[in-house]
Amino acid sequence: MESRVLVIFPHPDDEAFGVSGTIALHTEKGIPVTYVCCTLGEMGRNMGNPPIANRETLPQIRKNELINAANAIGIEDLRMLGLRDKTLEFEDVTDLADRFLKIIEEVKPSLVITFYPGYSVHPDHDATGYAVVQAMKQIPEPRRPKLYCLAFSNDCIEKLGKPDVYIDVSMVIDKKIACILAHETQASGFMKELPNKLKNKDPEVLKSFTTERFWTYSFK
Ligand SMILES: [Zn+2]
Repeated sequence: MESRVLVIFPHPDDEAFGVSGTIALHTEKGIPVTYVCCTLGEMGRNMGNPPIANRETLPQIRKNELINAANAIGIEDLRMLGLRDKTLEFEDVTDLADRFLKIIEEVKPSLVITFYPGYSVHPDHDATGYAVVQAMKQIPEPRRPKLYCLAFSNDCIEKLGKPDVYIDVSMVIDKKIACILAHETQASGFMKELPNKLKNKDPEVLKSFTTERFWTYSFK
């Protein structure tokens, strides 16, 4: 049982598919979750279908979407760092790691969740995961929280082996769907069909949405 969970991702909606069920399971039990979202995803290409945003309004709209998504899964401590989207890979890793370390020391989580550096496809994802690892390396082992990583590159299972943590989130699937759909500008036709597919117990959808999987990061 965790005492507190800290989630660190670069973009609004990074939490939706892979972690929102796990977050909701914790907040339902009264375990506080802090979500640090580094950017507002303002360089994203998706404006909604039909479009509900333009280049100028996108940051504010994604900010509101993120707040709604966080509310849907019971997050009370949402922190937007306001870094520039698609530039995290150019940020000084030491600076980013320092910011994360300060937050970790303040929040004192028993579990941290981020992207697996090198296996998360987008440069911002890998940079964020890398900086989280660098931050946590500075915490002496006895009081270092656990680190769960999300990975989804094509070679992740080949290189990392199978994930070692599987979490059944079927109990909170409605909250997960609400979180995904809150990111309206990012929701494709497929996602809009989700509630129906779930209601009809579409086996493919059930399989891919009701289990969340993580690799525990080994600092050795
Ligand atoms: Zn992302």
